[in-house]
Amino acid sequence: MKTVYLDNNATTQVAPEVIDAMLPFFRDAWGNPSSMHSFGGNVKKHVDKAREQVAALLGADPSEIIFTSCGSESNNMALRGVVEASGRYPHIISSCVEHPAVLEVARYLNKKGCRLTELKVNGGGHLDLDELKASISPSSLLLSLMWANNETGVIFPIDEIAPMAKEAGLLVHTDAVQVAGKIPIDVKKVPVDLLSISGHKLHAPKGVGVLYIRKGTKISPFILGGHQERSLRAGTENVPYIVGMGKACELAMEHMDEEQTLVAPLRDRLEKEILKICPDTRVNGDPNARLPNTTNISFEFIEGEAILLGMNEHGICASSGSACTSGSLEPSHVIRALGVPYTAAHGSIRFSFSRYNAGEDVDIVLKHLPGVIDRLRKLSPFIKH
Ligand code: PLP
Repeated sequence: MKTVYLDNNATTQVAPEVIDAMLPFFRDAWGNPSSMHSFGGNVKKHVDKAREQVAALLGADPSEIIFTSCGSESNNMALRGVVEASGRYPHIISSCVEHPAVLEVARYLNKKGCRLTELKVNGGGHLDLDELKASISPSSLLLSLMWANNETGVIFPIDEIAPMAKEAGLLVHTDAVQVAGKIPIDVKKVPVDLLSISGHKLHAPKGVGVLYIRKGTKISPFILGGHQERSLRAGTENVPYIVGMGKACELAMEHMDEEQTLVAPLRDRLEKEILKICPDTRVNGDPNARLPNTTNISFEFIEGEAILLGMNEHGICASSGSACTSGSLEPSHVIRALGVPYTAAHGSIRFSFSRYNAGEDVDIVLKHLPGVIDRLRKLSPFIKH
């Protein structure tokens, strides 16, 4: 049975070119980049090259790139680092639809003494920019907003928000984990101070992330120890993974156009056909301001987990919420924040594509999904039979 992988917002296939780029750094060039001898020192050149490749994807200077272990670490480093460096317990502004890797850190800082505003979203998943402006006060230090939502794909207008927040004197962090490689990022044009990305969401392996820190941003070290990563994140560099991250960013730039020409049309065909074939379905989040690869569809009166199991029998991989929350049967905090009715929130499924998908994947879902939905609806306690 073919695996139809439509869960790319959870994790992505490592690109074969990325694996090829990494392997020599396990087999042959395994020296420590901080060593004085050339066996180690030569490896440093490759870390430097990866830093340049990542910087190029973000429009940043290589000196502004810090390698971390994942997107969660980048988010932790950003929020905790700037709060600690401020030497006070400032006001932080974020949103209620953030990934837990921001939300839980903001709430932790709140418990420590920071005031926290969690901005609400409307039914389309959008912020009220007037509410955002009104929440800013003299004690506000940091605005942390995701660039795009991992569950719905809805894009926040960071290009509009960041200049406004900067003008009000705030530091701006954006969790761009779901954006990198899907839509262009240019920190020369969008004045964020900190930006997080994660390797495994853009065809690099799990275990490597990046925090972009604009020159001059006051931030405390996240891991104390050696001088690596400008003494902000000590620890001998994970060279193979850093090299892989660099290669993945280079590939992401080369393939960016395909997000619009190949990925979005696949997503759109799947979504259109599901809405046509399956009654009582709805798209969650504004379909006109979304990542090209994501659709989140509610199937009313049935459980998302049951749909996933039904699709799994046909080799189809999707998700019923963010991977971190799908252990519980409660609808995700994101879908609840959109005000989706209870009977629809429980049956929400996220399909997320990548450039490795093809039309055949959509055909297979359309062949099997209507039968799965039909069978589950016949068993639904919410429908009179
Ligand atoms: N931020 C967003 C928006 C995400 O979607 C994820 C992962 O799902 C993360 C952060 C965490 O990234 P990582 O798994 O690399 O820690």
